[in-house]
Amino acid sequence: MDLERHDFQLDELVERIKKNDHRLIALQVPEGLKMQALEMMDEIEDESAAKVVLAADPCYGACDLVHDKMRAMGVELVAHMGHSQMNIDSGMPTEFIPVTYDGEPGLEEIFPIISSHRELAINRLENMSQMKEFKEADGQKKFLDAVGRIAPLTDCKLGLVGSIQHLHLLEEYKERLEKLGFDVEIPVGGDRLSFPGQVLGCNYSGDSPEIGHYLFLGSGDFHPIGLVLHTGKPLAILDPYTDEAREMSLEVIERILRQRFGLIMAIDEAQSFGILIGEKPGQMRRNLAIRMKRLLEKHGKKGYLLALDHVGPELINFYPVDAFVNTACPRIAIDDSTRYEKPLITPYELEVSLGEKKWETGYQFDEIP
Ligand code: SF4
Repeated sequence: MDLERHDFQLDELVERIKKNDHRLIALQVPEGLKMQALEMMDEIEDESAAKVVLAADPCYGACDLVHDKMRAMGVELVAHMGHSQMNIDSGMPTEFIPVTYDGEPGLEEIFPIISSHRELAINRLENMSQMKEFKEADGQKKFLDAVGRIAPLTDCKLGLVGSIQHLHLLEEYKERLEKLGFDVEIPVGGDRLSFPGQVLGCNYSGDSPEIGHYLFLGSGDFHPIGLVLHTGKPLAILDPYTDEAREMSLEVIERILRQRFGLIMAIDEAQSFGILIGEKPGQMRRNLAIRMKRLLEKHGKKGYLLALDHVGPELINFYPVDAFVNTACPRIAIDDSTRYEKPLITPYELEVSLGEKKWETGYQFDEIP
């Protein structure tokens, strides 16, 4: 990745600082861009009268807005870089600063992958329309998606999505893909998402039965894993940082599902649970945590509510409980569970273990709406 090719749009921030005569602001920058944080601080201080404090704790999303600690320090405005506004209020005035990357990979190498995925989607759709002719068991085998669901499919459109630095490419790529013969939809999600085509690691609410397969513009497996676990649909990945074209491997998804199933089995005899509540404004699911506690009580088990800002093995491993249920960032249980000494499961997985929900109807991704 060439960091210099990121465009930080600081003009509006500087204007706001000048207009309100702010003297102390906090800058919050995602982990991947921290190398350039000092450069940004210099630019803001050079162009305004404000002093800038870097909120240097780890930051992985707009769920994690700095709030009361900065107010106590006398900060008047938070500048949050590289994420978009969510349906939360941190209680601090916050300016969200878009960051875009100028990489525009070609479509030649992704073309065969999305073409084969479209065939898969067409097959599933045809099987759907012939559903009446199958006995239920035969039907299940034929149109199960990657996570074992018989999800309704009404079309086989290509869903075009991306991570936030690449969303400015979507309209142009939609046109290019349509010229190649694809029926493309840029999905619009719920309140947690600010832009069409946007996905978060915890929210894929733009998915619809009309979308049969996906193309993701972005890098890494974080969003692709969540999108496939949530939708069960084939997913191709085009990386604007490296120009690499690939698909989300179903072996990876199967490995994750086997691991999740193993954890559900492992907590069968567990009697006591730590129920993690995230303190970050966009991760706090107190009601869900209390519902899990009541559910455990209903089944004669014990649940302890543990509130944390950061969740990490060193902060919870020592509690004398048999397992943990995570209601903070959903990806902690999915992506980091091997770092914990005891089983760390999602609320849905607890419900399956207690017999309240059925795994057989397909894995249910833990989404924050
Ligand atoms: S809750 Fe987790 S996945 Fe969702 S935005 Fe925050 S860090 Fe990302």
